[in-house]
Amino acid sequence: MDIKIIEENYQRMSDNELIRIATTDARGLRPEVFVIIENEIKKRNLNADILKGAIAQNKEYAIEEVEKYSTLLRDLPCPICGNTHDKLNGTISHTIKSFIIFTTYGTEPTIACPDCLDKKNNNAMLSTALLGWWGIPWGFFKTPIYIYRNYKAKQENRIDNSNTTLLSYTMSNIGEIETYKDDKEKLKEIIKPKKY
Ligand SMILES: [Zn+2]
Repeated sequence: MDIKIIEENYQRMSDNELIRIATTDARGLRPEVFVIIENEIKKRNLNADILKGAIAQNKEYAIEEVEKYSTLLRDLPCPICGNTHDKLNGTISHTIKSFIIFTTYGTEPTIACPDCLDKKNNNAMLSTALLGWWGIPWGFFKTPIYIYRNYKAKQENRIDNSNTTLLSYTMSNIGEIETYKDDKEKLKEIIKPKKY
């Protein structure tokens, strides 16, 4: 696409849209586009760290660097129960729910304190056990696998370091974490449970 047209597109964006793209959707942007983003940030008097967030999504990181970013999330209060004395971590809850004519499969990441993470996996196991097995034709076979995946995920809820789920969540949100690393309220938004 012609760089002039791209520039016009950015100029037409609302502040919110520009911030969203720069902080969450900047992976793989052409180098010239960063100059456009920089100009728009200056022109609109936005937080200069938004550009850092865009650049952060295009870097390669050593595991130690990702761990460092992840501690910014670990130190926040639990987004589910508000607990501030345990370090947060991540889990994936795996669910199958069969209804009369359809079956839903879900894998949902959660960042929270270890107690809340355990509850997440327990609930996923329970609802899968109750609602998963009679899905036709795969429920009967997949239900034990999904229950086992929750069981496996649960083993990582109480480890001392950032677990794999938290690290991959950190990488997926690296642009926003870099932009808002000094803004606790904004960081809290990043780990807020999503409504599906
Ligand atoms: Zn909690």
